[in-house]
Amino acid sequence: MAQKYYLTYDDMHKLVSSSSQKLIEFSPDIIVAIGGGGFIPSRIARTFLKVPMLSVSVKLYDDSLEAGDGLMENIQVNQWFSDEAAKIFKGKRVLVVDEVDDTRTTLAYVVNRMLEYEPSEVATFVLHNKLKEKHAELPEGVKSYTGTDIPNVWINYPWEANDIDDHNAHAQNNDKVLELLNNQC
Ligand code: 5GP
Repeated sequence: MAQKYYLTYDDMHKLVSSSSQKLIEFSPDIIVAIGGGGFIPSRIARTFLKVPMLSVSVKLYDDSLEAGDGLMENIQVNQWFSDEAAKIFKGKRVLVVDEVDDTRTTLAYVVNRMLEYEPSEVATFVLHNKLKEKHAELPEGVKSYTGTDIPNVWINYPWEANDIDDHNAHAQNNDKVLELLNNQC
């Protein structure tokens, strides 16, 4: 994965905007952002959905494992809801948002924990779904919405940039990067 794909803030806003109709149709009561990468996509989604946004913060320790037992133990939980706060999810429609579905481990972990609160429905939204083998699956009945599918490439998100002008200049090569990757498939 030597090639990198550079996403700009404008690209991100447009990906959320172009997904907004299907998210509005899901009609969530609450957005749950998975921090850090889900914060900005969630905030943009909130502009269209006009519902409260809450957040958790989790990190995948090691995504190099193959599919199998114990994947969920590779999640480090930095911030989660208190039992008291979690009562608000009961009977609610919850949209869980992250920036990217890579191995799917993070999404599966958060969705499974949200289901413990007995919401009426949970769906997920990511900007990018990488077309690759997943290490975890979402529980049955959980809808997943995606800004766009993308080949298995490392994506540099704009909030990671030290120099945003340099980042945006790299983004101009994205079409070439995708073309190369598609030709390799
Ligand atoms: P998962 O493998 O659980 O689907 O994704 C775990 C986390 O790895 C994501 O939430 C994200 O923070 C990070 N990650 C995975 N792929 C990429 C990528 O291409 N670019 C960046 N910046 N982070 C990624």
